[in-house]
Amino acid sequence: MKVLITGGGGFVGSHLADAFLARGDDVFILDTGSVQKTRHLIGNQQFHYVRDSIFNIEILEGLIAKCDLVYHLAAVVGVEHYVGDPYEVLNVNVNGTQNVLKLAFKHQKKVVFGSTSEVYGRNPKVPWHEDDDRVVGSTRIDRWCYSTSKAVGEHFCFGYHRMGLPVTITRYFNVYGPRLDKLDVGRIITIFMGQVLRNEPLTVIGDGEQTRCFTYIDDCIRATMAAGIGSNTDGEVFNIGTNVETTILELAKTMIDIASSKSTIRFVTQESVYGTSYEDIPRRVPDTTKMETILGVKADTSLRDGLSKTIDWFRSANF
Ligand code: UDP
Repeated sequence: MKVLITGGGGFVGSHLADAFLARGDDVFILDTGSVQKTRHLIGNQQFHYVRDSIFNIEILEGLIAKCDLVYHLAAVVGVEHYVGDPYEVLNVNVNGTQNVLKLAFKHQKKVVFGSTSEVYGRNPKVPWHEDDDRVVGSTRIDRWCYSTSKAVGEHFCFGYHRMGLPVTITRYFNVYGPRLDKLDVGRIITIFMGQVLRNEPLTVIGDGEQTRCFTYIDDCIRATMAAGIGSNTDGEVFNIGTNVETTILELAKTMIDIASSKSTIRFVTQESVYGTSYEDIPRRVPDTTKMETILGVKADTSLRDGLSKTIDWFRSANF
C-alpha cells in the first residue's frame, strides 16, 4: 500500500511513517518543515520525503492521486502559535485541510484527519465522549483559534463523508515520546525535559493541579494505524489517548524521580509564561470506549514506562 502523510515530518507523522514502513508499505511525506525527525529513514527505498506545502496544489494532487490512503496531519500546533500567530493557525488548519479533502474527494482516497482533544475546549464534564459538547471561549481570546480551526476541519470531514468520502477523525490527547520536540520548546514534556536534564527547577504553572492524560506515542500509533486500515472506521471520530489522569505537579515529580535529577519545583503564574490572552484547561480526560472497541487498541503504556523511554532517548539524542 502507498500511504501519504501530510505533516509526516512532525512528531506523530514521523512515528507513523516508521510503522507503515515496518509493515512493508511505501510512505510519502509532504511537509514544509525540517527532515530531522525522519533523517533515520533516508536511504530507505520505500520512503519518500517531499519538502513542500499542502498549498502547492499540483504537488498535493500528484501525491494524493498516487497513494491509497491519506493521513492529513499537517497543521500549525503549539500554544505559542495559538497566541502568537492566529492567522497562520486558521489558514493552514482550515484552508489547507480543505485542499486535502477536496483532492481526496476528487480521487476518492480515504482520509484520516488528525484532530485534537482541544476541540472539547474546557468542557468541565470529564471524561469526554466523542459526541460531547465543545465548550470554548470568546473569539476575542486567540487561544481558542486552534480548537476552532480543528473543529472546522472536522465539520469539513463530516461534510465530505456525507458526499461519499471515506474519512476518519482522530483526536489526540497529550501524546509524548521520543522526537516530541526540541528541548525547552513546545509542550510540557519537552519543557520539563530540558529543565530536568539540566537539574534546573521545573516551572509548574499555577498550583499544578490541572490534569492531562499523557499518551505514549506507540499506543497512539497503533490506534492511528487502525483508524486508517481497520474496518468500521469510516465517518467515525475517535479519542486517541489513555484515560489515566495525571496532575502537572505529579508529572513534574515523576520526571524528577525517573531522571534522578536534582531539580526542584518552581511555581509560576500563567501570565508570566503565556501572557494574558491564554486560558488553561483544568482537566482533559478522554472516554476511550470507542478506541478500545472499534479500533481494538488500549493505551496501556504506563506513565513511568513511557517517561523512562522518553528520558533515555532525550539523554542520548542530539535533538
Ligand atoms: N505547563 C506548566 N509549565 C510549563 C508549561 C506548561 O505547568 O512550563 C502546563 C500548562 O499550564 C498546561 C499543561 O502544562 O496545564 C500542559 O501544557 P501543554 O502546553 O503541554 O499543552 P496542553 O495540554 O495545554 O495543550
